[in-house]
Amino acid sequence: MVNAPFGDPGLFVPFCFEKRAIIFDLGDISRLSTRDILKISHCFISHTHMDHFIGLDTMLRLMLGRTKKLCLFGPEGFLENLEGKLSGYSWDLVEKYENPFSLQATEVHPTHMLTRNYICQNMFQSSGKTERQSFDSLLLEEPSFSVSSVILDHSISCLGFVIKEAIHINIKKTEVQKLGLDVGPWLNKFKKALFEQKPPDMIFEAISNNEKSRKASFRLQDLTEKIAKITPGQKIAYITDVRYNEQNIEKIIPFITGSDHLFIEAAFSDKHKDIAYAKNHLTARQAGEIAGKAGVARFTIFHFSPRYTGNEIMLQMEAEAAYRDAFTA
Ligand SMILES: [Zn+2]
Ligand SMILES: [Zn+2]
Repeated sequence: MVNAPFGDPGLFVPFCFEKRAIIFDLGDISRLSTRDILKISHCFISHTHMDHFIGLDTMLRLMLGRTKKLCLFGPEGFLENLEGKLSGYSWDLVEKYENPFSLQATEVHPTHMLTRNYICQNMFQSSGKTERQSFDSLLLEEPSFSVSSVILDHSISCLGFVIKEAIHINIKKTEVQKLGLDVGPWLNKFKKALFEQKPPDMIFEAISNNEKSRKASFRLQDLTEKIAKITPGQKIAYITDVRYNEQNIEKIIPFITGSDHLFIEAAFSDKHKDIAYAKNHLTARQAGEIAGKAGVARFTIFHFSPRYTGNEIMLQMEAEAAYRDAFTA
């Protein structure tokens, strides 16, 4: 999580050995380093309440003038909100910028998605072209992972997200070192070859950046057997700002089932469940119960109301107890 549980929501997912990350929600991101923010290639915004979207300004400020394409996803009305934000600034100097920077934004409707592009040098004016694609849960698919979404009810539409690795590649670091190689960026190319299911006989060249700058060639399969352990891909789910109603629960549980880690809001204690319902949020008990019913391996609660400052243990315990009860039921 970008912030402590009383802070703005945001889940930062960095990629190992790559200068890349994705983020779920863009609340206050000032706790992230500039270096980390610049790694972000895709932002998945649950909805555009300020606490989930105010960080876009910080991000744009840092990315201006750099070579970058940033992809954004959000719910119905997202393009209008984004365009409103972009039109809130004067952009008279950007046409002189040499490095191309652009935004690609997609809003998700129940059966389709709309995508528009905004180029910095054109003062972020929409190109006027809107691409339409069908939507059936999948937002992004790459060889190594995919991101899916479900549309939930928070009085306005709010997106829940799941990121799933295609396979999980554990690198055995000591075996890498035994080959005289370092644990470095070349492993990323190695992983890419596995994600893309390259032929086992392919000759793979490992270039190590250690003192000896060693180069070594292997059959892909031989190297895989030596240094990698392949297990099923991990699934991480992110659910925030949802009302506790049957319709939401029926959508959330199958969507997050089998997650290795669920991040789920728990704004209120169950003793304030009426307030939670009126404000379209979950209680800690409800969050724990959802986690248990879906059989997730681990879960983290966040987005606590400030009224529980100093009392967060109570929310944690409430969620844990509900999780255990629902899990064994
Ligand atoms: Zn909200
Ligand atoms: Zn919120």
